[in-house]
Amino acid sequence: MTYLAVPISGENIQSCQEQLKTAVQAGVEMLELRTDYIESLDADKLKQLITAAKQTSLPLIVTCRDAEQGGQNDLTAALRSQILAEAVKLGADLIDCEYANFIKSNFGETIKKALAENKKTRLILSAHNFKEPFGNLDEIYEQMFAAFPAAIAKTAYQANHINDCFAAFDVLKKYGSKAIAICMGQAGVSSRIMAKKLDAFLTFASIEDTAATASGQITAEKMKKQYRFDSINNETEFFGLIGDPVGHSIGPVVHNACFEAENLNCVYLPMLAAGGQTQFDEFLDNITARDWLNMRGFSVTIPHKVNALEYAEEKGEYIEPLAAQIGAVNTLTVGLNKRINGYNTDYTGAMDALTDAMDIRRKQLHGKTAAVIGAGGAARAIVAGLADVGAKITIYNRTISKAQNLAAEFDCRWASLENLKNIDAEIIINCTSIGMHPKTDASPVPKECLKPMMVVFDTVYNPLETLLLQQAKQAGAKTVGGFEMFIGQAAEQFKLFTHKDCPMDTLRKITLEALGEK
Ligand code: NAP
Repeated sequence: MTYLAVPISGENIQSCQEQLKTAVQAGVEMLELRTDYIESLDADKLKQLITAAKQTSLPLIVTCRDAEQGGQNDLTAALRSQILAEAVKLGADLIDCEYANFIKSNFGETIKKALAENKKTRLILSAHNFKEPFGNLDEIYEQMFAAFPAAIAKTAYQANHINDCFAAFDVLKKYGSKAIAICMGQAGVSSRIMAKKLDAFLTFASIEDTAATASGQITAEKMKKQYRFDSINNETEFFGLIGDPVGHSIGPVVHNACFEAENLNCVYLPMLAAGGQTQFDEFLDNITARDWLNMRGFSVTIPHKVNALEYAEEKGEYIEPLAAQIGAVNTLTVGLNKRINGYNTDYTGAMDALTDAMDIRRKQLHGKTAAVIGAGGAARAIVAGLADVGAKITIYNRTISKAQNLAAEFDCRWASLENLKNIDAEIIINCTSIGMHPKTDASPVPKECLKPMMVVFDTVYNPLETLLLQQAKQAGAKTVGGFEMFIGQAAEQFKLFTHKDCPMDTLRKITLEALGEK
């Protein structure tokens, strides 16, 4: 069992009592009393705090952190060791002592004596690095176990990249419930959740965002509701969003809700990966070297869509032919024998949105005239999809050279944006950001050009109905919103990840809610 622990970090007993109440309501499984946060800490306040915390019946860790390792109030070593020894006497289930202090003779002797007198209390030996990963992580654990074999060994270090988490995963694989390994920062979020799959002794969450005691700590509520902490076990399969940034993506909310709706033992994590091809390659090499992590697939976003394609090409892995033609992979699956498969669901999502609205099959787009506005990533995916089924495409773009290059590649026509006033295509697709929030009063197509026989598709999904779509509707044209493309690509990813159809009602509802919150 991996305990879901929260720090109680009030400045006085009353605020700690309020935090204790919230912690119990949040359904946490262990409390860490951060006594170093208490103003004018003394033995009497410690006793009051432990007495209040014991009423919750939850196991208690007492910590009195050294300022050098992230503690508050710069307390003296004498007071800190005395507080920890006293906590043992008062029946704390665990105390957390920095390894660096434990090996100092006075400090360590005080702690060992107290533990010898009350064998019920267990010792956590800890080490922290708020800047970067430890260079010698495994050695630190070995030293801690050598210093006190019955200890639970804990490290918490700053992860500046998802790749920094793998050392922590390796330690947890080796030591399981005798260890705690937390990666702090946005890039370390997944380590807090995967700790349960790896049977760590505990992982930390906060009772609310403002009460986080370390960077990257997420709330207990989010841990339980969004990441379904309670149902994570050794069999859980993990998926993730790999990119930079990932913090504001609605991907984790949406995919996890769909996994839950289908009762699948799967969890989707944000994975912050800065850097370029080298760091991306390292990430996938780390994944394929650790089948036991059960990481089975990834959504790939900026800046790694081309890196994902190049990785798969370099390793001779499977790449969906159209993804290779588009030149970008936005979905990776890790299959049998650690083989990587690369796909592009952006074009699938767009093609499905279009054909669903027109109530036709993809191949019925053959011969239809399509005006694609834009020549960036989205346009490229859509042009490739349309060209594949033989639509007659004209690409309109602000930067003419980009329109020309894309047109040459997919054997279509090109024109400048000014030529949109002469547009008479059956299908119009906006693949620029024109009309996107906050400049919602703009449209790439003059409204007088919109006709009832047209199908007008705007890939922009914020707002859900752009000015272009409003004017197309008024002209009597059929309209398709970027939201449909967005959920179409997510549904296709779900299918590639799980080999099951996506629960579309859940996907729609959760995506709308999540976009509404943005
Ligand atoms: P991108 O690669 O950066 O391309 C941007 C395109 O928009 C380029 O063609 C650019 O023209 C054009 N553009 C940008 N600002 C413009 C302006 N003020 N006037 C005229 N043209 C302008 O971006 P992308 O990934 O293709 O994304 C484009 C849009 O597609 C996004 O805004 C997004 O709303 C939408 N999208 C939707 C989904 C979905 O799931 N619904 C998915 C992906 C993208 P230049 O070449 O001249 O710079």
